Amino acid sequence: MSVVLMYHDIVTTTDKSSGFQNKNAFQYKVEESAFEEQIKALRGKDLVFTFDDGGESFYTKAASILEKYGVRGLFFISTKYIDTPGFLTTEQVKVLADKGHIIGSHSHSHPEIFTKLSKEEVREEWRKSYEILKDILEEKDLPMSIPNGYASKIIMEEAIKCGFSDIYTSQPTTKTKLFQKHNVIGRYVVHDNMTTEDVLRIVNSKGCRLKMALKWHFLNVVKGVLGESYETIKAHVLYH
Ligand SMILES: [Zn+2]
Repeated sequence: MSVVLMYHDIVTTTDKSSGFQNKNAFQYKVEESAFEEQIKALRGKDLVFTFDDGGESFYTKAASILEKYGVRGLFFISTKYIDTPGFLTTEQVKVLADKGHIIGSHSHSHPEIFTKLSKEEVREEWRKSYEILKDILEEKDLPMSIPNGYASKIIMEEAIKCGFSDIYTSQPTTKTKLFQKHNVIGRYVVHDNMTTEDVLRIVNSKGCRLKMALKWHFLNVVKGVLGESYETIKAHVLYH
């Protein structure tokens, strides 16, 4: 039973230019020194470190800190932004894979609300992304993570049809489920206000994980009622 953590960009207080630049994204950008403290405290534990979006900090900050402590990460990339300012370059994606990190997809364009897309649009997101990563990495066994936690049967089904293997969600759980013979793996999000103790608690305390799971289930109900204003209150409920 591994605990899978979900990070995004690793930044400094003066430079948060890596990855998406919107209000929702900033709450997930973890400060470099806090990140290193967390990795130091967590090494040796049964953990998986995952990273979403594809910001250049995967290469410039996250990977080197992980490597310093003998850890490897799982980096999910929104492929449309490769080689654009603030995001990984094609070369950096290759180097990360060469250093033993695992690369996966985080869709092509990172749709704000994935469940609003038609089945064809969902398929295009996964198809384009799979092709791009397959070409860069010469690798067919690629995992994926779903943007903004909008998991649905169609989204998972289309990703599998396009060739993806494991499915990573934003549901805080340590139980791996199966969907059409593919692993569906839950994750616990780490955000910018968390202390090392907070992160350690997720890993060490079943009670803490249960609390996060209950909040998540509650938010899923709210998500259906509130629609687009959901993102704004999500952070408040999850982290306070
Ligand atoms: Zn994302």
